Amino acid sequence: MKGSFIIISSPSGGGKGTLIREVMMTMPDIGYSVSYTTRAPRFGEEHGREYFFISKAEFDDLIAGNDLLEYAEVHGNMYGTSRSQTEAMLEQGRDVILEIDVQGALNMMEKVPDLVSVFILPPSFEVLEARLTARNTEDVEGLALRLRNAVNEVAQYERFQYVIVNDVVSTASRMLGSIICAERQKRIRQTASIQGILDSFARAKHTFAGDNHT
Ligand code: 5GP
Repeated sequence: MKGSFIIISSPSGGGKGTLIREVMMTMPDIGYSVSYTTRAPRFGEEHGREYFFISKAEFDDLIAGNDLLEYAEVHGNMYGTSRSQTEAMLEQGRDVILEIDVQGALNMMEKVPDLVSVFILPPSFEVLEARLTARNTEDVEGLALRLRNAVNEVAQYERFQYVIVNDVVSTASRMLGSIICAERQKRIRQTASIQGILDSFARAKHTFAGDNHT
C-alpha cells in the first residue's frame, strides 16, 4: 500500500519544523520531503538537509520540466516540492510529511483528495511575534512581511482537517504523533497488511464447518 501525504502548515515561526523533528525521532519510517527554494541559506542550514538551495533560473527549469508537485511564492521567494522525491517515498509505502505554506497546502488538497492536513496554530499573535523576533533570522522588513502574512494564513485554518495549538512543544508534538498514528489505523489503509490475519480466520472457519452455534 502506498503511503500518504501529511501536510503541515503554519505561519512562519509557528514551530512546525520543531514539531516535525520531534515526531520523526519517534517515527523514523516517515519520509520528509526536502523542498527546493530560491531563498538564501540561513546560518547553519545545509543544502539537501533543510532545502535544496537553487537559483531562480534552476527553479524555472524545474517548473518547465514538470518536476514540482506544487510550488508557491512565499515571503518573496519561491518554494517547491519535488515530484520524484516524494513519489519514491510514497511508493515504498512511507508516509511523507510536507512542511509547506498555506497556498501550497490548498493546492495539494485539490490534487490529492486523501491527504492528511494539519494546521499548527501559535497560542496568539503576540507569542508568534515574540518567537519570530527571538529567532532573529529575518531583517526588520522580512519580520514585518512574515507577521503580515501570518494574519492571512491563520484565516485559512478552516481548510485543514486538524488543528494543533503549539503552546508546549512536547504536548503539541505528541498530538501530531497521535494524528499520524490514528490515520495509519484506518481500516482502508490496512487492507493489505491485515490480509494474513484475515486468512488465518478464513482457514479456521473450515474447522467449524457444520457447527451451527456462534
Ligand atoms: P522558511 O523560509 O521560513 O524556511 O519558509 C517559509 C515558508 O515556506 C514556510 O511556511 C514553509 O513551510 C514554506 N515552504 C517550505 N517549503 C515549501 C514548499 O515546497 N512549498 C510551499 N508551497 N511552501 C514551502
